[in-house]
Order: sequence, then C-alpha cells, then structure tokens
Amino acid sequence: MIPVIALVGRPNVGKSTLFNQLTRSRDALVADFAGLTRDRKYGEARLGSRPYVVIDTGGISGDEDGIDSQMAGQSLQAIEEADAVLFLVDAREGLNAADEALARHLRQRNKAFYLVVNKIDGVDADLATSDFYSLGVEQMFAIAASHGRGVSAMIESVLAQFPPQEAEPGADDWQGIRVAVVGRPNVGKSTLVNRLLGEERVVVYDEPGTTRDSIYIDFERNDQHYTLIDTAGIRRRKNVRLVVEKFSIVKTLKAVDDAHVVILVMDAHEGLVEQDMHLLGHCIEAGRGLVLAVNKWDGIESDQRDWMRHELQRRLQFADYADTHFISALHGTGVGHLYKSIDAAHRSATRKLSTNQLTRILEGAVFDHPPPMVNGRRIKLRYAHAGGQNPPLIVIHGNQTGKVPVSYQRYLEKIFRRELDLVGTPVRIEFRTGE
Ligand code: GDP
Ligand code: GDP
Repeated sequence: MIPVIALVGRPNVGKSTLFNQLTRSRDALVADFAGLTRDRKYGEARLGSRPYVVIDTGGISGDEDGIDSQMAGQSLQAIEEADAVLFLVDAREGLNAADEALARHLRQRNKAFYLVVNKIDGVDADLATSDFYSLGVEQMFAIAASHGRGVSAMIESVLAQFPPQEAEPGADDWQGIRVAVVGRPNVGKSTLVNRLLGEERVVVYDEPGTTRDSIYIDFERNDQHYTLIDTAGIRRRKNVRLVVEKFSIVKTLKAVDDAHVVILVMDAHEGLVEQDMHLLGHCIEAGRGLVLAVNKWDGIESDQRDWMRHELQRRLQFADYADTHFISALHGTGVGHLYKSIDAAHRSATRKLSTNQLTRILEGAVFDHPPPMVNGRRIKLRYAHAGGQNPPLIVIHGNQTGKVPVSYQRYLEKIFRRELDLVGTPVRIEFRTGE
C-alpha cells in the first residue's frame, strides 16, 4: 500500500512550502476537493520509483485553547488517515506553547510522529534543534523546506519504516481484473457495488472485511476473474450491519492506483461538478483504464438527458476514449453493460503490441500526414515499439523528435488508437532521438 504522510503544525511553519517541494517533482495531483476537505490538500509524490501521498493540513490555528476543537475537525481526519505524521516546527521562532499543545495532542491520539525542525537555513542547526528536545520525540529532522535542504533524506528515512509495496490483495493467485468504483459521496457507489455483485452469475469468493483501506472483493463472472475495489464500504452480507464509511480521498487515490480499470460514478441529478473533474483528472494522470457511469438516470426528464449528454460531450473531450454508460444502480438498468466496457478497457490496457505492427502503423500515419519541417529539416520518425502496458506506452524513434508538435502527437495517438482498436485506456507516446 502507498504510504500516506500528513504534514501538521501551526500556521507559517512551512507546511505548504514542504508540500510543494514534495509534490512538484511530478505533475502531482494537488486535489482541491472543495467542500469536502476545506482545510486539506492532497498530493502525490514520488521518491525514486516509490509513490506516496502527502496531505497538507492547514486547519490548526495554533490557538492553545482552541486546539482541541480545531484538531477535532478536518486536520484530525488527515492525521487519522496518515501512516506517518510530520510535525513541523519553526527553527527561527523556537519552541512555543502551541507546539507543545499539538505534541500533547498527537501523543494522546497515540499517533507516531516525526519532529521536523524547518527553516534551518542561516541558523545554527544544532542550536536550533536543541530547543525542541523537550518535546520528547525520538526522531528529529532538521530541514530548510524552501531550499529543499534535508528534505529527501528525511523522506527516505520516513519511508524506510514502511515495508516495500506488497502485492495487492487477491493479486497473487487470483489474477483478476481489478476494478475500482470511485466517485463523490452520494453518487451511488455502494448501490452500484451491490448491484455489480448482486448480478446473477456473479460468484463472490471472500467475505469482505472492513479496513481503513478499501474493501477488496474477489468474484467471478462468465469465467472471468475480477477483484472489485470498493471505496464506499458496502453492506456486509453476513451481519447485515451497514458499514457507513466516510468519503476518503486517500482511499480513493489508493484505489485508483491499485486498479486496472476505474469506474468513475457521477450523479445525473447534479450534472458534472468540479470534484468529478478532479477525480477524472487523477484517473487519467494515473493512466488507468476508465469507464464513466452516469448514475441515477432514472427519473430524469428527456430534455435534461439531452443536456447532460451535451455537457459530457463538451467537457469530457479529453476523456473521450472512455465508454460512458447511463445507468440506474438503484433499478439495475444498464449495470450489466459495464462489464463489457471493463473487459474491453482491460484488454486494451494490457494488450501486447509488436514492433512490427507499431512500426507499420507509424509508417502509414507518416505517409498520410508527414510531420512538419523544423529549421528547414523534416522531422523523421523511423520506428516504434512497445514500452509498457497499462497504460500502453508506444516509444517512437527518429530525428528531432523533441520538436514534434503536440498536435502531431495527438494525431499519432489517434491513429494508433484507431488502428489497434484501443478503447477505455489512455495511450502514451514517448519519443527518442537516434537509433
Ligand atoms: P504554512 O502556513 O505552515 O503552510 O507555512 P508556509 O509554507 O506558507 O510558509 C510560511 C513562511 O515561511 C513563508 O513565507 C515561507 O516562504 C517561509 N518558509 C518556509 N520554509 C522555509 C525555510 O526552509 N526557510 C525559510 N527561511 N523560510 C521558509
Ligand atoms: P455513495 O455514497 O456513493 O456510496 O452513494 P449510495 O450508494 O449510498 O447512494 C446515495 C443515495 O443515492 C442513496 O439514497 C441511494 O438510494 C441513491 N441512489 C443510488 N443509486 C441511485 C439511482 O440509480 N437512482 C436513484 N434515483 N437514486 C440512487
């Protein structure tokens, strides 16, 4: 599982600065799930090839009296979600009462934390850190977030405490298509999960258990193995207790990362909202197979339906490779069809592509529509081979490939997609110069 690191501390100690340092290394999803997480920001970061999630909590006022109530809110949930808490303090200001209160609070919650003494640039680090030993922490790091000093070394030792990524549940012997059901609260995820499993011919193998993470459910349908990654927490079958789980962004991010195919559930009654777009952006960035499910299609007037179709077409152009289904999880309408799209997306995402085939398609595309001239010389694209699966990566070799315009990349992507019949998955193209 991907480790989750929360940044806490009073205002101005440098949490956002550190957050930006950690997440800027790649095009991080910096999710602004307005309304859901007013005070938290989520980002994905990487140390080498190892991904982790950072949460920036902004909600602690530093007001000693108010700290419990402040902490009880949004920030507390971030802390609960985290595997490790980085507690930031300011080297220049030294220890203050708010830091002490926060340390006490973390200790009460029984949450292991690391003390991070920030802003050690231009100060005597030993002297600055000695001030904070009275907080009684075992591990302390001295960093300058704004200069990136000490930051990688710190993350390295924090991540070293977590065992390297294990195989996903069900992955070893099951080898099913891992399907994550994600979406905002109340769009109908639980209802859909129940429907997907309640379908005739579905054989559920294991009893789902609740964990802080998503529930993994292995099942079989028409001889195909699947693992459903349920972020909503479905009604458990044996003890009919309703497992009401809070919407958790960390859970959602992890589920997406762990899936082959994501079903993004949206609510037709509400139309496309900003959070849907954020989630979609993340699914695309993560390179996962994608199926869009517009739920609650029942009871929608026909003019409203037209409007919704139009909205989807207009605003989701960048995801037009994904199949869209208009469903009613409540009544079961259209739910069975999702499987066809899931299977197709998975097939496309994991298809083996030969150098021969890819080069032939490239040649055809170049013949029909040659790349432009740059400085009087034509860009030459020679051959293509597969660079990876899920999502499919096509590596193209040639000359001046760094100058290939974005519009031409899009053109090639479109041709590869069409010729290879790739659906439901992003296709990535990478250019290399030389042989
Ligand atoms: P937050 O409120 O905890 O998120 O704090 P910010 O990240 O907004 O930082 C507060 C101020 O401290 C900003 O003016 C930053 O530029 C500054 N700051 C953050 N990290 C460092 C650092 O390592 N050294 C110095 N000198 N200033 C820093
Ligand atoms: P979740 O928070 O995304 O897991 O959403 P739930 O599955 O708990 O559903 C939220 C609410 O929407 C419940 O009251 C459901 O009965 C209702 N709902 C779910 N699917 C549909 C649907 O297809 N049509 C209608 N009309 N209501 C639905």
